[in-house]
Amino acid sequence: GHTIQLIEETPYRFRIERHGSMRVPGVVLASRVLLPEDQALQQVVNVATLPGIVRASYAMPDLHWGYGFPIGGVAATDIAAGGVVSPGGVGFDISCGVRLLAADIDRDRLAPRLNRLLDRLDHAIPRGAGPGAVWHLTGRSQLEKVLCDGARYAVEQGHGVARDLERCEDFGGVADADVSQVGSRAVERGLNQVGSLGSGNHFLEIQAVEEVYDEVVTAAFGLSRGQVCVMIHCGSRGLGHQICTDHVRVMEKAMPYYGITVPDRQLACAPVDSPEGRAYLGAMAAAANYGRANRQLLGEATRRAFADIADGGLDLVYDVSHNLAKIETHDGTRLCVHRKGATRALPPYHPGLPADLAPVGQPVLIPGTMGTASYVLTGVSGGEAFHSTCHGAGRTQSRHRAARSVSGRRLRDRLEAQGIVVRGVTWRGLAEETPAAYKDIDAVITASEGAGLCRRIARLVPLGVVKG
Ligand code: 5GP
Ligand code: MN
Ligand code: MN
Repeated sequence: GHTIQLIEETPYRFRIERHGSMRVPGVVLASRVLLPEDQALQQVVNVATLPGIVRASYAMPDLHWGYGFPIGGVAATDIAAGGVVSPGGVGFDISCGVRLLAADIDRDRLAPRLNRLLDRLDHAIPRGAGPGAVWHLTGRSQLEKVLCDGARYAVEQGHGVARDLERCEDFGGVADADVSQVGSRAVERGLNQVGSLGSGNHFLEIQAVEEVYDEVVTAAFGLSRGQVCVMIHCGSRGLGHQICTDHVRVMEKAMPYYGITVPDRQLACAPVDSPEGRAYLGAMAAAANYGRANRQLLGEATRRAFADIADGGLDLVYDVSHNLAKIETHDGTRLCVHRKGATRALPPYHPGLPADLAPVGQPVLIPGTMGTASYVLTGVSGGEAFHSTCHGAGRTQSRHRAARSVSGRRLRDRLEAQGIVVRGVTWRGLAEETPAAYKDIDAVITASEGAGLCRRIARLVPLGVVKG
């Protein structure tokens, strides 16, 4: 393909001028070394053509190629102006996200029990491609409660404490789930996967706080130097995937009716304010609630393991998704904000925060890789891209290329030599996730901060990982 002209406005902000059928410019918030070599920049351009898009088609520093929209893409459409919603702007793993729990034990005290803890988690955390889950739902009617109330339903059923919900985005569940828009195949896939990690990129990691950049905010998040914490990354499993597949198909058929043309079929979309748009958003909300219940249940399973092996509890720091579309008001206009591989990052005193976090802002949870650091950030006022930031390090290599570059056993040995305990499912799956397949997380965080999207609060390092 032809190269895309980037205008370097600052070391962390690149602009793609409007051309062709772009309705807004592209804004790539990254440093030069982080710019992707795949088709992701073309995808930033493609997204800029969507009906109703406002301000810019944004890209975060971990930008890389995705289905239709790039991963690390943020785009908002003006609902009253016929703005569209696109399932590709959310991704297949609807409401995939990260939950961080803080343990009341530090790394030195945990050290002699670390292997036993990972053995227990290896056993207790269902994962991999097949079935198997923490929770056995009694049938469709119970699944519908999960789809309507998310983590709130899980807590109501005894899987967690009320305080957990205070520390969840949307207080544990999104409104407006429409179970009638969740197809029977999605229901079938969802029944036996509530409380399961899934595969590959999804993980449960025991980490330690290695560095603190802001003592006050770190303390407000319930963290301190040397402390052990647990990061859980997973989403809505087969249910979310099926919902995305089903609704992309519906929108592909509906686009001619609305006179919408897109430069890539994978950008299938429909006006937010249309039967197809509402149907998708209702089903997407149901999948989002499924994802939140999923992380709640895995958090509970982890608490049981900690209670047994480490004689201690786990407090929720926060739970936030990085694949979602949300109806939000910005500068008085109702927008549909797509964040795909991008994390919402609310600034201090935003009304979406629980009272105790108001002075410090939202905890933003950014995984790196199983062999490098991960970060806790916070939102800042004046941040661009509708209060969004990166969601991870971001891939630079395909799974296929990663798996060819190293054997799973060799990688495991290397990580264990670094002091990181590994419990995987398959050697191939482990190799696909080699740290070498990802961008440098430290550079991604520096660029996110440099672009004014967020502020770094604490740096976490891995002690042990349970890989999906
Ligand atoms: P995604 O949601 O795009 O699949 O992944 C989010 C991010 O998780 C990736 O960009 C990568 O930086 C990070 N990641 C993947 N595997 C691991 C892991 O095992 N441990 C940690 N800490 N991060 C991971
Ligand atoms: Mn996911
Ligand atoms: Mn994810």
